[in-house]
Amino acid sequence: ATDRVFNFAAGPAVLPENVLLRAQSELYNWRGSGMSVMEMSHRGKEFLSIIQKAEADLRTLLNIPSNYHVLFLQGGATTQFAAIPLNICQPDDLVDYVVTGSWGDKAFKEASKYCQPKSIWSGKSDKYTKIPSFETLQQTPGAKYLHICANETIHGVEFKDYPIPANENEILIADMSSNFCSKPVDVSKFGLIYAGAQKNVGPSGVTIVIIRSDLIGNAQSTTPVMLDYKIHADNASLYNTPPCFGIYMCGLVFEDLVAQGGLIEVEKKNVKKAKVLYDAINDSNGFYRCPVVESVRSLMNVPFTLAKPELEAEFVREAAKEKMLQLKGHRSVGGIRASIYNAMPLAGVEKLVAFMKDFQARHD
Ligand code: PMP
Repeated sequence: ATDRVFNFAAGPAVLPENVLLRAQSELYNWRGSGMSVMEMSHRGKEFLSIIQKAEADLRTLLNIPSNYHVLFLQGGATTQFAAIPLNICQPDDLVDYVVTGSWGDKAFKEASKYCQPKSIWSGKSDKYTKIPSFETLQQTPGAKYLHICANETIHGVEFKDYPIPANENEILIADMSSNFCSKPVDVSKFGLIYAGAQKNVGPSGVTIVIIRSDLIGNAQSTTPVMLDYKIHADNASLYNTPPCFGIYMCGLVFEDLVAQGGLIEVEKKNVKKAKVLYDAINDSNGFYRCPVVESVRSLMNVPFTLAKPELEAEFVREAAKEKMLQLKGHRSVGGIRASIYNAMPLAGVEKLVAFMKDFQARHD
């Protein structure tokens, strides 16, 4: 629609227009119930149908095996940085973190309050532009889990394949906040997957945890009830009042992704969009530059710099005038970052690329 911008924000981020319009049409009176989803009891049959449908559609999308629980929680992915060690470890347990960016680093630091984490690889000295080769990882004997951040939102590095934990009974855990539902994932390779909703699947306020059932029920004794997966699993995410409206919005997005043909189709679109943008960067004769190693460039968050950094502010300003917003890189790395989540249409990326070419022609 002409009154909408192209929003390249990293999160909260663009949502599908048809989902927003559907929510608008149902906002005042949800499907004849005479009330808005925001006004409903979370224990009433209407809301139960909403959360159950959301879970069922997510299970369809990711082909989630029946021995996994899906939890709709609060507190953002940041809360999971603590909840994971509290639920999966005792204070003396060893665990491994592969640190490919700032989010992985935050998760690692938080875990050190609740168990004995080791950063077994860090991309920091290369400014977080790489993913390690899995053979070279020195995994800790006896570690309980191996944690990765599947897509580093700030640095734009994405795992294209996943390491296998070395120890018997050790599990792989992934923060998928910024590439959740952007492509198919074999959930059975993971003990736990978690994601804040506000990039690909909904508004902020909902955090999704997908966890193998046998990992539930061994939380450290000091674990707050709100962080205890067993409490939430036993109560079908309704132990206390959940973020009802956010869960409803996630449900509409899941329904839309199913209608698009599922994550195989969604991934095709994402690959195409990312190619258009990375090709433009690669073909710019160095005017634009992406620091990330080509094979691990993110399909979701595309960071790049200008050979003349003094032009970056002008780039962002001029793009905003053409209704392309939120292109400034994260304050910790600078430069430009275009986040092109599921709901960013190809037309948005094509418009950005046309602008980039024009900007270069005027400033090269
Ligand atoms: N992990 C990743 C990969 C993220 O991108 C973010 C948010 N940008 C977080 C964790 C933190 O999420 P939240 O703000 O939901 O706590």
